[in-house]
Amino acid sequence: MEKREPRLMIVSAPSGCGKGTIMERAFKENEVFYSVSCTTRGPRPGEVPGKSYHYITTEEFEKMIAEDSFLEYAKYNQTYYGTPRKPVEENLAAGKDVILEIETQGAFKVKELRPEVSSLFILPPSIKELRRRLHKRATEDEETIEKRVAQAAGEIAQADKYDYVIMNDDLDPAVEDFKAVIDGIRGEREPA
Ligand code: 5GP
Repeated sequence: MEKREPRLMIVSAPSGCGKGTIMERAFKENEVFYSVSCTTRGPRPGEVPGKSYHYITTEEFEKMIAEDSFLEYAKYNQTYYGTPRKPVEENLAAGKDVILEIETQGAFKVKELRPEVSSLFILPPSIKELRRRLHKRATEDEETIEKRVAQAAGEIAQADKYDYVIMNDDLDPAVEDFKAVIDGIRGEREPA
């Protein structure tokens, strides 16, 4: 059978929407290549360097920008986040589907560069619930949480620009919805 083209997919969701949990539950290990971003923020409790993010300094990040090492990058809450270009290109070239878990500015840049990518936005049930979840996570102070809530509201307003939108109200149905969308994207250009 002819091999299909590998897919590049974008998943965006404001922090606190449970996208990490959904993605962990949705994929078997190594089923897709999950791009590990660089960030200039420090690790949160439970995060694993090299797996959650590559934690680098602002100087290192800016050097990578100058060297054109990012497929896209954005500044979010005074912090840089960027997708290293090379692993994404290498995995696509090796025939593997790739997922970028990035915020909206980066998503729109990638969509501009590669209009064929599919994008999915995960909505929280409400801003009130998002704030409650961020407090429950208790990894950030009040001021940071309020900044993230404001940022989330701005991102949610862009959800209609995505190809697919799902809501994480209850985790189990959200995982099912996520899988259905991703399976659809991964299968949609399968040769007949
Ligand atoms: P957090 O600090 O909660 O891990 O991430 C904050 C936001 O940055 C999230 O919306 C996350 O999806 C986004 N993000 C993570 N990595 C990247 C990246 O490489 N590029 C862009 N543009 N956003 C990213």
